[in-house]
Amino acid sequence: MNDGKKNFGRGELMPFDEVMGTILGSARPSGSEEVGLDDAAGRVLAADIVSDIDMPPFDKSAMDGFACRSADLDCPLRIVETVAAGSMPEKEINEGECARIMTGAAVPRGADIVVMVEDTEEADGTVRISRQSGRSNICFLGEDVRTGDRVLEKGSLIRPAEIAVLAATNGVTAPVAVRPVLGIAVTGDELAEPGQPVSAGMIRNSNGPQLIAQAAETGLPAEYLGIVPDESGAVPDLIERASDRIDVFIFSGGVSMGDYDFVPGGLEEAGFELLVHGAAIKPGRPLLFGRREGAWVFGLPGNPVSVFVLFEIIVKPFCFRLMGHDYRPLEVTARLDKEFTRKGAIRTAHVPVRLTPDGWAQLLDYHGSAHIHAYARADGILRIPSGVDTLKEGEEVRVIIPGPPRLADGK
Ligand code: AMP
Ligand code: MG
Repeated sequence: MNDGKKNFGRGELMPFDEVMGTILGSARPSGSEEVGLDDAAGRVLAADIVSDIDMPPFDKSAMDGFACRSADLDCPLRIVETVAAGSMPEKEINEGECARIMTGAAVPRGADIVVMVEDTEEADGTVRISRQSGRSNICFLGEDVRTGDRVLEKGSLIRPAEIAVLAATNGVTAPVAVRPVLGIAVTGDELAEPGQPVSAGMIRNSNGPQLIAQAAETGLPAEYLGIVPDESGAVPDLIERASDRIDVFIFSGGVSMGDYDFVPGGLEEAGFELLVHGAAIKPGRPLLFGRREGAWVFGLPGNPVSVFVLFEIIVKPFCFRLMGHDYRPLEVTARLDKEFTRKGAIRTAHVPVRLTPDGWAQLLDYHGSAHIHAYARADGILRIPSGVDTLKEGEEVRVIIPGPPRLADGK
């Protein structure tokens, strides 16, 4: 019987790469705003940052010690002044002279080396060099950055090191991409919120809290829109109520082919064009993605592992693309601890693994897409490409590490 619903036969499943291409390709850049440096960590830079100064801005001592001429290291040196960080030297260093100097202070003219204090002996205003390290211990003007150099690129993720660069280039605020606001809704008449009584046939809503946590970990603002009943009209009603403040709707459940799967029809009723429905991804076969003016929607299958994995590998890159950042998850290489086999290899599959410090990926006991407890013990997601049905013991594999974004520009 076919009442117009998809049955997700082989021919209807969009290959993984095409799914990614379609979803990422439909992103439109968000605007930009200025935020204070205190609020800039985790955001995406909306403009190139150019240095307004040379770094270091003067020849700077890297050590506490004595600035002198390298030609004079074998002679006793008379101390002519003390230069502290933050003040400029007053005297030039001539033959047989030195200045006591602190780390970060400007090196006096005439000096071409700073001998660290540990390598000297001082008596009666004179210094002898007891050990010659061969190092200048001077950070030279402009050796890190020149005035006008592009020090940060538009589209980069702002991490603590980028904050330091922004501060060093006199940034009080930073231009950042506006973040999309996520609207998280879970569908299903069987759902009870944690803390509520669970009567026969009901289960606890774990997807709502999980998605809120994933959004928070990604640094994205999210509003929880609650449990949506399995009835026609509920999805368009909810979208109508929330559309003024939500950019990306995320629904869990109700996207498949059951009699109570009202999400695809409801989204079409709300004016969304469905660009993906049915993906060669495991878990995630009924994945749905749609777009309408100024908003996007993901329909994730209700099983908690599907929600977890699809958010990590698809929703996150999409949200970063909206902000102009080429996000890709962190991946590590490890060796598989035992053979993995599967029946059929049409879909790109994902299973939970644990990583050991000596480079092994351990396959965990995993019962399928409802088994979120397996991921609670996992460090990463092992991807098995479509067409591959066996991974050998000891084989080198790539493991996706879920969690906060970490890579500077995704390139
Ligand atoms: P569905 O995609 O609506 O067919 O749901 C697939 C499976 O996921 C069913 O066993 C649901 O009970 C379960 N499920 C749906 N929504 C949630 C949720 N919010 N939390 C936990 N499990 C869910
Ligand atoms: Mg359902």
